[in-house]
Amino acid sequence: MTSQTLAEIDRVVLPAAGLDDLFDSLHAEGYPVLGPTVRDGAIVIGPITSSDDLPRGWGDEQDAGVYRLVRRDDDAYFGFAAPAGTWKRHLFPAHSILWRARVVRGAPVIEENEDHPGRRALVGIRGCDLAAVAVQDRVLLHGAHPDPVYSARRADLLLVGVACGTPASTCFCTSMGTGPSVGGGADIAMTELDAEDPARHRFLLEARTDAGRAVVARVSARTATAADDDAADAVVRRAGSRITRTVDNAGLPEALRAGAEHPRWDDVAERCLSCGSCTMVCPTCFCTDVRDEPNVLAGTDDRVRVWASCFELGHSYLHGGSVRPSPSARYRQWATHKFSTWWDQFGTSGCVGCGRCIAWCPVGIDVTEEIRAVAAGPTQEQGVADGRHDDG
Ligand code: SF4
Ligand code: SF4
Repeated sequence: MTSQTLAEIDRVVLPAAGLDDLFDSLHAEGYPVLGPTVRDGAIVIGPITSSDDLPRGWGDEQDAGVYRLVRRDDDAYFGFAAPAGTWKRHLFPAHSILWRARVVRGAPVIEENEDHPGRRALVGIRGCDLAAVAVQDRVLLHGAHPDPVYSARRADLLLVGVACGTPASTCFCTSMGTGPSVGGGADIAMTELDAEDPARHRFLLEARTDAGRAVVARVSARTATAADDDAADAVVRRAGSRITRTVDNAGLPEALRAGAEHPRWDDVAERCLSCGSCTMVCPTCFCTDVRDEPNVLAGTDDRVRVWASCFELGHSYLHGGSVRPSPSARYRQWATHKFSTWWDQFGTSGCVGCGRCIAWCPVGIDVTEEIRAVAAGPTQEQGVADGRHDDG
């Protein structure tokens, strides 16, 4: 690649058979790689050493309360929608030690968590999940009090996005403006082309930052042509046209605020199990709890932070009682925070349209349907006066 100009390095084409060149290049630049892989009957995010670890030939079927892997009839490496596992787990771990106390020569000593994972590359991140990283950056990195655990994991990260060509029925990234193309924040944007034809199966790579350019410059690839660009545009266009689930964001924050007493909140509470699965799989949710984990044998006491959910009764426990004692109040809190008050707090929606909360809800509750019903106002039969909202 050394004879190529910088502009030529920006957009290159890598044959699928040479995909390991990309991983070799990342490793040569000092990046251990995390990416999608098949484990426990699902596509999750884990360590990737070569293209053999990717979900080659696997797709997924996702619907309300449904997730299953399906065999594709081609060798696509990224032929699935949003993975079951989230990248969040690797930036904002489900369990983090904040500090450890131990007794040294009779005196207590506090050791801060200085864990810095260093350089890492996230390969295969979708547009919706890139947007989720940007949301978490706003909350955890750019706030008045940057979170040290997140900051340490976010630093030195190289983001390699892959355009989504196979959205699931649960996806609504087009409504949220986050996909299916690779939006801002990626160091390299990839599009997988013609997976059904082994002779033409290839990747268009677009280096968008100096760090991305350094990686792409090491790869044995040819300069992209207008035909490659057209093929990549077609992938994104086709994917976008297959997304049917929608959210109408115009006036939605205000409509949800005005619908605080809508009887639909009680209706959804009849179905909701308050299990918190939707919050655990959501790539933007960031609620946590803090507790102590003593280890008598080691003589230590760890102050740890664990993921929590606003669906837990104890999450809103204040002064001897929970301020959101009913499932109805808790569902309303979650949905209105995501789609309404998040805007006031962070200047963005709290939802990126990945659809995970729909697929992984054990009873198939679809948040897009719930907020649409509330935003539409009560039906004549419901009538606000008859359908008083039970907050306790
Ligand atoms: S609320 Fe649901 S669709 Fe939106 S980002 Fe979270 S998991 Fe994805
Ligand atoms: S909406 Fe679904 S996933 Fe979320 S708490 Fe209720 S039952 Fe669980």
